[in-house]
Amino acid sequence: MTAPIEAASILAVGSELLGTTKLDTNSLFLTGELETLGISVLRKACVGDDWEGLLSEISTALSRAPLLVITGGLGPTADDRTKEAVAHIFDRRLLRDDEILSRLKQRFLRRGMEMPKVNEKQADVIEGSVVLHNPVGTAPGYLVEAAGKTVVLLPGVPREMKALWGEKVRPLLGRDTSASGVHRRVLKIAGMAESAVEELIKPVYAAHPEEPVTILAGGGEIELHLSARGSAEEAARKLDALEADFRKAVGAEIYGRDTETLEGVAGELLRLKGKTVALAESCTGGTLAGRMTDVAGSSDYFLGAAITYANSAKVEMLGVSPSTLEKFGAVSEETAREMAAGVRRQFGSSIGLSVTGIAGPGGGTPEKPVGTVFLALDSDDGARHGKRLLLPGDRAMIRRWTTSAALLLLRNFLLGRLSPGR
Ligand code: AMP
Ligand code: MG
Repeated sequence: MTAPIEAASILAVGSELLGTTKLDTNSLFLTGELETLGISVLRKACVGDDWEGLLSEISTALSRAPLLVITGGLGPTADDRTKEAVAHIFDRRLLRDDEILSRLKQRFLRRGMEMPKVNEKQADVIEGSVVLHNPVGTAPGYLVEAAGKTVVLLPGVPREMKALWGEKVRPLLGRDTSASGVHRRVLKIAGMAESAVEELIKPVYAAHPEEPVTILAGGGEIELHLSARGSAEEAARKLDALEADFRKAVGAEIYGRDTETLEGVAGELLRLKGKTVALAESCTGGTLAGRMTDVAGSSDYFLGAAITYANSAKVEMLGVSPSTLEKFGAVSEETAREMAAGVRRQFGSSIGLSVTGIAGPGGGTPEKPVGTVFLALDSDDGARHGKRLLLPGDRAMIRRWTTSAALLLLRNFLLGRLSPGR
């Protein structure tokens, strides 16, 4: 590749992307990647698996920018025609490549299958293109250069698209980074209201006018999206300075960054401290256990969960006293505390963590409206904590928010950030 490319279009191919069930997420990934290379995305579009539509979208996209990245339509079926359309526009032939054909056949053989005839067309190569062998799937990608334009064709499956981009396309674009690349970092905050975070960070972003910051809130968590321009090293330096200022302003409420999750951070602390946890869930119905076990390696510290929805389950499985339920109700701090202690006993874990609440839409009372949630933590070192929350939103939001609050309670306990409980 010769002169550096500064602008790109992205085209997502697939009729499913025009329906109501499937969103084009590939372009989000590609936009971030292109930005770090200093390439701005000028246009993106979705098009169905339709020949005329493909030709017209590819031509339009190429008229707008020197680089076009296309995902999808490289599969073996008759509606996958991206390759044909690009070949047609550049007046190139499709040539059967014996090496690709034998690689495809071997891939099927390794799984004890014979390659279906339809897959043969995946071995057809656009004349004069660079073939990008797919490390994780059957469809190779292609890079075609003609008439001052570059077209990159990638499979639609996000995992394959990302693998091919990282291993083949990025290096081929001729630079690892650009002096004008945009680099991003996300700081994650839990347990604070958006307005409270905004108050604390206002002076920080006023002091860094050249690095834009976006604040996003959802599910009981807040994200600060930082970005900086420059080479990878320059941008990292700017982002480090920005992050340090945000940490000074917000403090340890910042629990992680980028792809880190609350469940991952809490899990790592359990592992570091050699502790185990068991959960007693009522209103979250197992979704807290779901989040904790989403983390690979969670079996090192996660012993199990009791999903105790009914009062009888709370009594029989956790040993909650019927008189506590009678006197304070299933949604109460007293019940939450007995659930945490009970589950810790049952599983023999170092920590018991419990959740009980009213996720709605029914079941609220004036004293305990929908969104009332109690959390409790019971530790074998004698520490006991209880917490009452009043959460906003609908059932799904309250349940999600509750799991975040419980994970935060666990994380803060493990960091020694809770005042001594009773
Ligand atoms: P294809 O390469 O067209 O056979 O696409 C294979 C699968 O990848 C599709 O069924 C989709 O589930 C997924 N896919 C295709 N394009 C996209 C996209 N732009 N964003 C997210 N998923 C996609
Ligand atoms: Mg398709």
